[in-house]
Amino acid sequence: MRIGAHVDPADPLAAAAERGAEAVQFFLADPQGWKAPVARADAAELRASDVDIYIHAPYVINVATLNNRIRIPSRKLLLTHARAAAEIGARALIVHGGHVNAGDDLSVGFDNWRKTFAYAAKEGGLPLPVLIENTAGGDNAMARRFDNLARLWEAIGEFGAGFCLDTCHAHAGGEELLDIVDRVKSITGRIDLIHANDSKDSFDSGRDRHDNLGNGKIDPDLVVAAIRASGAPAIVETPGGVEGQSADIALLRERAGN
Ligand SMILES: [Zn+2]
Repeated sequence: MRIGAHVDPADPLAAAAERGAEAVQFFLADPQGWKAPVARADAAELRASDVDIYIHAPYVINVATLNNRIRIPSRKLLLTHARAAAEIGARALIVHGGHVNAGDDLSVGFDNWRKTFAYAAKEGGLPLPVLIENTAGGDNAMARRFDNLARLWEAIGEFGAGFCLDTCHAHAGGEELLDIVDRVKSITGRIDLIHANDSKDSFDSGRDRHDNLGNGKIDPDLVVAAIRASGAPAIVETPGGVEGQSADIALLRERAGN
């Protein structure tokens, strides 16, 4: 069982060592910006490391939207990040499911996802797995509730997309954690990564505020059960720096370990 943390991009391997993490996730560029990643000086070191590397795409990316001025750059930036992530030996690139605007047709959003994968294929293909992550909020999200997730997978199934299950987002988004792995896998056929987070907010609140495990509204044993059932690696995206994340990793190791 590989367990790790979302860390600062400055020195991910040092951050992993400090936390006793077997995996790290970080951003390759400002998560709120449109800038392409710059080449990393530690690329060779990252590629050679035993620590599993995951890259989170910027939050601004929304490939589902009907707004051309967001969708087209999103599509390009996603591919740019996929290439940069592959360059440093990352296992996968994680991206949020995105949304359409109020009043827009959801089915166009699902089809925009299909076009995103088709675009990437035409441009030479994705050099690593892209994992679509479930999100917590909004009425027009592609991957908040699993009825929509099923429609998304119908649209993109042929492209072999991966899935990242965030436990905070599921709870806050209104999906019960009990038996969640079976429900997801009946749609996607796979879970590639778990984002193991507690939620500061209540069930179906639609709010995305992560908390340390056992500190928020989620029974940590449900998070542990999801990790065990999925067999997937887990990344904590929790607050509290080295101390907070180390405690979360220790809790998961203790309860989810062999
Ligand atoms: Zn997440």
